[in-house]
Amino acid sequence: MTYIVTENCIRCKYMDCVEVCPVDCFYEGDNMLVIHPDECIDCGVCEPECPADAIKPDTEPGLDKWLQINTEYAERWPNITIKRDAPEDAKAMDGVENKYELYFSPEPGEGD
Ligand code: SF4
Ligand code: SF4
Repeated sequence: MTYIVTENCIRCKYMDCVEVCPVDCFYEGDNMLVIHPDECIDCGVCEPECPADAIKPDTEPGLDKWLQINTEYAERWPNITIKRDAPEDAKAMDGVENKYELYFSPEPGEGD
């Protein structure tokens, strides 16, 4: 198994998760992060740190699409280990529906 980042991270991107990961396996897109499934050691430390409740174990049902997205974009986006400020509207975007369809960006973020 692995932990993965799911839809509610899009445009929330609080980045509390990157500071606690012991193996630095978060990767940064333009408006969300993903976890590299082959690097994650399943420690679970990041899951309760996410204010948007966006980090889930891939053993939860219905997350196949997000496992695929984490796998694909962890190869394309730069590694991120340092927390920066969240977007100004992160709180307003928390819980918005259909974020993937409306806001997902395949563009890479800045990385470290
Ligand atoms: S803490 Fe949660 S919302 Fe913030 S970047 Fe990490 S996964 Fe995304
Ligand atoms: S479960 Fe552990 S190893 Fe995996 S991304 Fe979270 S903190 Fe990193």
